Amino acid sequence: MNIASVVLSAGLRSFDKLYDYIIPDNLSALPGMRVLVPFGAKNRLCSAWIVQVRQDEATRALKEIHSLVDDYPLLNQEMLKLSEWMKNRYLCTWGEAIGCMVPAGVNLTRQRIVKSCIQSPSEEMSPIMARLCEAGDEGVLYQDLEREFPDNLEAMLKELVDKGLVEIRETFRQRVSQKKQRAVYPVIDQAEFMALYHEGQVKSVYQARVMDFLYEEGMCFLQDLLLIPGVSHATIRAMHKKGWVAYEDVDVERDPFEIQENASNGIAPVPTEDQQRALDTLMPLLEGHRLNEALLHGVTGSGKTEVYIRLIEEAIRLGKTAIVLVPEISLTPQMVSRFTSRFGKRVAIQHSRLSLGERYDQWQKIRRGEVDVVIGVRSAVFAPLNNLGIVIVDEEHEPTYKSENNPKYDARHVARARCNINGALLLLGSATPSVETYARARSGKIGLIEMKTRANTRPLPQVRMVDMRAELQQGNLKMISRVLEEELIRVKRNGEQAILFLNRRGYASFLLCRDCGFVLRCPNCSVSMTYHRNDRHVVCHYCGYTVPVPPSCPNCRGVHLKPMGTGTQRIEEELLSHEAGFRVLRMDLDTTGSKYGYQRILDAFRTGEADILIGTQMVAKGHDFPNVTLVGILAADAMLFTEDYRSTERTFQLVTQAAGRAGRGEKPGQVILQAYNVDNYALQAAMEQDFHAFYSREIPIRQQLGYPPFAHIGMVMVSSTDNSRGWELIIRIHQFLMEKYGQTDQLTISRPLRAPIFVLRNRMRWRIILKHPSTGHLLGILKDVAAMTDRMKLKDARVSVDIDPVNML
Ligand code: ADP
Ligand code: ZN
Repeated sequence: MNIASVVLSAGLRSFDKLYDYIIPDNLSALPGMRVLVPFGAKNRLCSAWIVQVRQDEATRALKEIHSLVDDYPLLNQEMLKLSEWMKNRYLCTWGEAIGCMVPAGVNLTRQRIVKSCIQSPSEEMSPIMARLCEAGDEGVLYQDLEREFPDNLEAMLKELVDKGLVEIRETFRQRVSQKKQRAVYPVIDQAEFMALYHEGQVKSVYQARVMDFLYEEGMCFLQDLLLIPGVSHATIRAMHKKGWVAYEDVDVERDPFEIQENASNGIAPVPTEDQQRALDTLMPLLEGHRLNEALLHGVTGSGKTEVYIRLIEEAIRLGKTAIVLVPEISLTPQMVSRFTSRFGKRVAIQHSRLSLGERYDQWQKIRRGEVDVVIGVRSAVFAPLNNLGIVIVDEEHEPTYKSENNPKYDARHVARARCNINGALLLLGSATPSVETYARARSGKIGLIEMKTRANTRPLPQVRMVDMRAELQQGNLKMISRVLEEELIRVKRNGEQAILFLNRRGYASFLLCRDCGFVLRCPNCSVSMTYHRNDRHVVCHYCGYTVPVPPSCPNCRGVHLKPMGTGTQRIEEELLSHEAGFRVLRMDLDTTGSKYGYQRILDAFRTGEADILIGTQMVAKGHDFPNVTLVGILAADAMLFTEDYRSTERTFQLVTQAAGRAGRGEKPGQVILQAYNVDNYALQAAMEQDFHAFYSREIPIRQQLGYPPFAHIGMVMVSSTDNSRGWELIIRIHQFLMEKYGQTDQLTISRPLRAPIFVLRNRMRWRIILKHPSTGHLLGILKDVAAMTDRMKLKDARVSVDIDPVNML
């Protein structure tokens, strides 16, 4: 008989294994389909995925599959294999891994529309065909047909479909036409919601389903949520009351990336020398049948996009397909339009303004092979393309490629795994590659192609640094230096525009000496220490080293040792009160509210509604504003002192990228950096746009401290609303680790530590940080921790594990 091995779509880790079911003779069940199976002693019907079908004798009493959910497999063999890899790599359940791969829309109520393939009715036609012909192109809803032809409809239709006379399409219940749409977004984070769930505070499964959607999507149209079976307006209203979700009315304009078929700029430029060299190296790799990986390190403006496009053209010529990952699609409209003008309708763009229904349609289109190229953010790495030939990860250094929700996958790793399964080329591109990737390229583990000249022959902008210590000494207490102020006035007079950039996140709470620029750092860890206002101590959150706040600066004895704290809002005020009458736009999380807000502000700036755009790191990304001739980076060194070992790297990347925003048009650009630590090597290197100078200074420090790329970091995090319960648990995990593994030459196990952000939404958080050169080894340890804590009856404490976390806070 036929036996299917299935995994449950949802469920606890302890049920995360393969269960065998008999496939009844009347069901054609295939791997990659969803089914309903009776589960447990009560035979509750659960949704499950078939991962394997085999011919076998049933050796013990097996239950039967209850019914099929899908008529065809949603996942092919490749994706099933990939999901298994993910489950092992990210310590999630198999169902969670598969959940990443199918679009949320797959669970929505769909309607089947039946359409005739022949135009005109004829005499000898069956009544059902006549009815369909009459309906014409609109087709007839399946339910309506069922009412009219109650007997044996399914079999009749199957016969007609097999003969090619009829086609059946799926569609969603409604299409949106209004200009304004009510959108819903989550207010509490996923971890917190899961906690409520485990504490039994979430009474309705429909609410849980809605939250699942929202975490997956970030934001959903209310209309879409109402398509989830069982979800009504009342469901969402109740969630709103509880403070789990919020509403926002957003404009649904025309699809911003709608494809212009006759775009005139689809002409390919003649490649530059650098581009040609890159292509000569990379093209042959497309014909290979095993994983190839390379880093394309090209300065901003070197023309990486053109290299991507030509590689994809070649892949398509070879009958293969391509995925292009970008950090944030709404921030890369120019790049997207270059792709659409070259590939027309064969490209699918996965962006956040598509409704769930549209996204599901798109997914189906990709699955049916109607698309060769998919461009999108992180999750586009799961696009169901067949015969994948190349995956391109643009701006590969961006932290957004790593998911912070469970499963905490890194799209670059998943891309590598997919390329490995398909024998495809993985191309990582960046002007400021991550230290880890560059180290892999330098050591010869992956290919390295460098492009050092700009394709458009525009000079790099001129960069100046202003020493804010001197400003202070000369009596300027404002956040904007006199040089920058003068230039802002000049820019306004000339009818040009400026961008001011500030990384507020960096302003956490470190102590800075305003006389000499000294910042208190941990003697063991080389990260800045965090200022705790309550007890006036500074603490290293990597190793726990704690000292009281010194009365004066240990470096210069000055008394202006101050916790840093300021933001975009203060700068806005400073500029608005200026006599020059600046018109100012501010873009940060407070003003955009959601991802739909970006575009509005950017459009306003582009059309000249303001002289100055102020923002956090959002404004540093790939925008192209031809009229911007000045970029000011305020407190360029602020982000040096977050408690992340990557803070220097991030500083270099952000400053280099932000500087790249100036002088994109005809007029030359200039950049002004304001900093206290003007001698810092990351700032010096960023000023020269010199990645190699930065890298050669950074790498020995990483080696000395045993940070990536010389080791991997594993993190065990415990959170709890109860101080002593959480603390006891982390201590027990620590004891377990010390007894079972202990410190070795290769392995370091930190003490149990409070997380830098200790209380997050009423939950206290502790963690243990592990370091070891091998991910495989760390995975083994983390698996042990997960297994050990799974066995314990944890009241409200929760344990999570991660490897190479992107966010160390
Ligand atoms: P990067 O992504 O490396 O920063 P882009 O791909 O955005 O660079 O290219 C920078 C600019 O150079 C773009 O305006 C692009 O149109 C132009 N460009 C790229 N390749 C060529 C070429 N071969 N000849 C002329 N202009 C080019
Ligand atoms: Zn330390």
